Amino acid sequence: MAARIGKLLTKILCGALFALSACAGAADRCDESAGISLQILGSGGPIADDGRASSAYVVWVDGRSKVLIDAGGGAFLRFGEAGADFAELDHIAISHFHTDHSADLVALLKSGNFSARKRALGISGPNGGGPFPGLPDYLESTIGQDGAYGYLSGYLDGSGGLVLLEALTVDPGSRESIPVSGDSDAPIQITATGVPHGIVPAIAYRVRVGNKELVFASDQNGNDDEFIEFARDADVLVMHMVVPENIAGDGRNLHAPPSRIGQIAAASNAGMLVLSHFMARSLRDFDANVALVRKHYDGEVVTAEDLLCIGVDD
Ligand SMILES: [Zn+2]
Repeated sequence: MAARIGKLLTKILCGALFALSACAGAADRCDESAGISLQILGSGGPIADDGRASSAYVVWVDGRSKVLIDAGGGAFLRFGEAGADFAELDHIAISHFHTDHSADLVALLKSGNFSARKRALGISGPNGGGPFPGLPDYLESTIGQDGAYGYLSGYLDGSGGLVLLEALTVDPGSRESIPVSGDSDAPIQITATGVPHGIVPAIAYRVRVGNKELVFASDQNGNDDEFIEFARDADVLVMHMVVPENIAGDGRNLHAPPSRIGQIAAASNAGMLVLSHFMARSLRDFDANVALVRKHYDGEVVTAEDLLCIGVDD
């Protein structure tokens, strides 16, 4: 009982306190937990100045790593540290092709080549736009036969004993809720919707496991109210707090300021809000920014740390 309370206190402290580096990995291990858990693999952004991996998350079900959301730089290392298993994954969901959301995907695929996986693996990502590739082009230019890592082309054609990737491309222009994994009877269902992130085609994901739902907002400026409907009544809403309140110009076009994050969490009736995607510069006024979030949202607010495991049980 004492150990259980100790772990619970650690969880609460890790969620409540900012920059408590001891929290990384200190909470219950997701791979040893029953029920549904969210593990932060990467709580950072695109700047390597804070000891955080870039964006990546795992949804665990009864101690098995079932869904990977994003694979930014550092996800490869954290995936192993978390005890996640490529063979257990049902789906990889890529939100957009900024490096801090996708750069470690190929490294994880190569690692997975050494796993016990025998079945195909679903992967989803956005259509291309402007200088950004869509999922098919991204896969072709990396692991296609003529790609930079053509030796992994078996993921696309089944050669060499590699398992097939079943790619599903989402049109970010759509504000519909699009199923990307699992039929209506499947234990895990994932839907996607486009979100506004400057000129970058980007999508948010909603992962349903049993009666629990987790929404990953990805990078977005928060200006599209349709996202509030997409995220409605989620048990956990993960949002990226990247810019300060007074940001303007490109930064505001890419990211939602703290007050808008709080408004979205409140309007969508999120059960818990996880703030993530930090860099040194976005942590400068962290307490003030969280206060702006809380001004609008009075639910539980958790600060992401790499490897933090968050239970989503009743
Ligand atoms: Zn981005």
